Amino acid sequence: MPGYEPFLLCDFHVHTSWSDGRLSLRETVDLYGATGCFDVIAITDHILMERDLLARAGRLATLGRRRFSLTREGFPAYLAEIEAEAARARREYGMLVIPGAEITQNHLRGRFNSHIIGLGLKEWISADQRADDILRDIRRQDGLSIACHPHHRTTRRIEISTCYLWDHRKELAPLVDVWEAANRDDLFSVTSLKHYPYVANSDFHRGKHLYSWKTLLRCDKSWPAVKAALRANVDVALMLFRKDRWA
Ligand code: ZN
Ligand code: ZN
Repeated sequence: MPGYEPFLLCDFHVHTSWSDGRLSLRETVDLYGATGCFDVIAITDHILMERDLLARAGRLATLGRRRFSLTREGFPAYLAEIEAEAARARREYGMLVIPGAEITQNHLRGRFNSHIIGLGLKEWISADQRADDILRDIRRQDGLSIACHPHHRTTRRIEISTCYLWDHRKELAPLVDVWEAANRDDLFSVTSLKHYPYVANSDFHRGKHLYSWKTLLRCDKSWPAVKAALRANVDVALMLFRKDRWA
């Protein structure tokens, strides 16, 4: 579209083996980098609640071999590895890598569930606090918050609805920077009813998730410019990034 280039191809929701992703951080950076298409990705591993039941069950099922959550003690090492990988990604692929986390609240009663991404984080954020306090903590760190898959998800084998932020949008919307209008294959078109700022992400956990909804942004390839562009939500496009026909 003449006059509208260049857009940056972005994915702001990516998990690695620091939590429940299948690939290491380095392998993930190489997968995105090797496409030669991506300009910006954010690494957003899970921070779970201390008593997350699914994670406990998962640890038992995998005999403790898989991690499901970042830990407070491990958080500085996680940020340090992202920083090192970001320098390599910039050098090898011209790709901007942003540090983040998905603060994940899975309660027994689904109506309390929220998944909140904080981008540009500098410090640990506990998942064992109220959603509004998580959002305030992201603001305090000068980060950017994303309300993840904010409505019912029906394409997963196990449905875990994460509607808390949407159900409480009257009080919480002023604290949320951007809402996921698309996540992997799903569209959360309810977000358009309130004219909230949008973003579209892969929620990457394994290789095939590369082919999913993405965001195009028109701005400089730097974190301050990306943050401002997401908040302003003017030069934004949602894009379905696919290789083959989807089944
Ligand atoms: Zn999530
Ligand atoms: Zn996620």
